[in-house]
Amino acid sequence: MSLIVQKYGGTSVGTVDRILEVARRVVKTVQLGNSLVVVLSAMGKTTDGLVKLAKEISVNPNKREMDMLLSTGEQVSIALLSMALQEMGQPAISLTGAQVGIVTEAAHTRARILRIDPNRLQTQLNSGKVVVVAGFQGIADAGELEITTLGRGGSDTTAVALAAALRADRCEIYTDVPGILTTDPRLVADAQLMDEITCDEMLELASLGAKVLHPRAVEIAKNYGVPLVVLSSWSDAPGTRVVSPPPPSARPLEGLELAKAVDAVEFDLDQAGVSLLRLPDRPGVAARLFGAIAQQNLDVDLIIQSIHEGNTNDIAFTVRRNSLNQAVAVADAIVPALGKNSRPELGEPEVKVEERPIAKVSIAGAGMIGRPRVAAQMFNTLADAGINIQMISTSEVKVSCTIDAAECDRAVAELCKAFDVANSPVGLHSASHKPPAVRAVALDLNQARLAIRQLPDRPGVAAKMFGLLAEENISVDTIIQSQRCHNIDGILTRDIAFTVAQIDAEAAKTVLEKSAFEFGWGEVAVDTEIAKVSVVGSGMVAHPGVAAKMFEALSQHEINIQMIATSEIKISCVVDEAQGVTALKAIHAAFELAGSEKVQVPA
Ligand code: ASP
Ligand code: MG
Repeated sequence: MSLIVQKYGGTSVGTVDRILEVARRVVKTVQLGNSLVVVLSAMGKTTDGLVKLAKEISVNPNKREMDMLLSTGEQVSIALLSMALQEMGQPAISLTGAQVGIVTEAAHTRARILRIDPNRLQTQLNSGKVVVVAGFQGIADAGELEITTLGRGGSDTTAVALAAALRADRCEIYTDVPGILTTDPRLVADAQLMDEITCDEMLELASLGAKVLHPRAVEIAKNYGVPLVVLSSWSDAPGTRVVSPPPPSARPLEGLELAKAVDAVEFDLDQAGVSLLRLPDRPGVAARLFGAIAQQNLDVDLIIQSIHEGNTNDIAFTVRRNSLNQAVAVADAIVPALGKNSRPELGEPEVKVEERPIAKVSIAGAGMIGRPRVAAQMFNTLADAGINIQMISTSEVKVSCTIDAAECDRAVAELCKAFDVANSPVGLHSASHKPPAVRAVALDLNQARLAIRQLPDRPGVAAKMFGLLAEENISVDTIIQSQRCHNIDGILTRDIAFTVAQIDAEAAKTVLEKSAFEFGWGEVAVDTEIAKVSVVGSGMVAHPGVAAKMFEALSQHEINIQMIATSEIKISCVVDEAQGVTALKAIHAAFELAGSEKVQVPA
């Protein structure tokens, strides 16, 4: 007998008929000899409807009252399903988040689960009932009991957290798509259903996958090793397994540590840096460079490219230390062939080798999604330790910095302390099976890019800048700080670029400009006409040519790359917004991700 947690999304319980359909599936699962916990969303678009009602009364409704309001949606669906099951002769009981002991932080509308006390639930299961739980809600005990919600889409998180707490054999997320696809099927007709994806990949795909699966749910599945599968409630197809390596240690489930922003502090001392300065800003430059490097089979780790004054580009990358000489030789040979930039007065293209040994330190965790303070806190921690940051490259769930190798131990120790994590120099890629180099491709059209020129090159500047944005609650997506230093009247400066949600762009510019004089940075340029395309795959670590292939696909379509940022399993490029969809299609095709069957998805 297995214990299964099944979660059904809003469309799956959108009408009475559909609720009956779900009830039949539940009964069937029980008849196969399983114990069952069912987590439900609110019916159809109920939650949206409730939000709309609130907005008709107040532009900025009180958050506690929002939770009171929104948590009602799920109570309707669980009561109805429970009745339907009872009508079919299946004993069942519905319970709210509070009743099943889901204790959260007191942060209304976006509370994180702190712990779960599954006693009541267990007792009901033992008595042979199906327990139907309201998703998306919990209870905060801040002296007084308060209803909280987990953020939109949070029912997934309820389901996976319950599965972790009950040590369930499986958590099944039923939805209105057949599983997780290689890209957005509304943009790319031949998107393909995946059998399997890793939790890490899923997290890096937040902008693509978040609609299918709440990132917090993925993170909990990863940390607690919950077997997770996403599948369609309209068919019996097997869906997509979201797999995780066995968790590092059996985590104590009593104190479900569900609220941490950062899961791991990682470092890599085997890194050497190469920068190419003042390259011409036109399509094909990155493709040629990384194509040549891939031909030599050199493993490139971080790659960043940022824009600079006068439309010249700098590209910086790191390689394994023993590949440095080869990488420099390739760069030296390529650079003259790339041609001159359009502003010869700024200087010729040039290859610069970082003479001192460097280290890469990273923080990783889905908890940083939507929490702007996390990146700022990393920069701050390094600044307080007097450690200068050379390059920065970020993804949705990771911030990586290169620093002087001699400072690595200290940096790791300070970061572990700051984020309250045990040191985890993760053997990242010890997967036994061979994951594909690229699993999926995502496009994000809702970002804007900000570029700031001439930040003083000293510890604490990035910390200050992202701290100011965090105070305004502005989440930063991709951050890039490149290697080039300008020497302006004896002061070394660097440029930095990052992306934020388009709606936050003006506010971000305003905050930063207000402080420009005080902290000594230059003008802030905003560009909202951008698109970010990303490829994600755990196997890219062992495939040196992935970056080159992505850049080549863009180059063939004459698409200019404005920014590049990488993490171990992801490469993102910022391109012109008008070329976003073309870029997505080109890359999806280049990696041969197309399926032969058309995947049916609701409009
Ligand atoms: N009903 C909530 C929402 O629409 C939670 C969920 O469905 O996951 O966001
Ligand atoms: Mg959902």
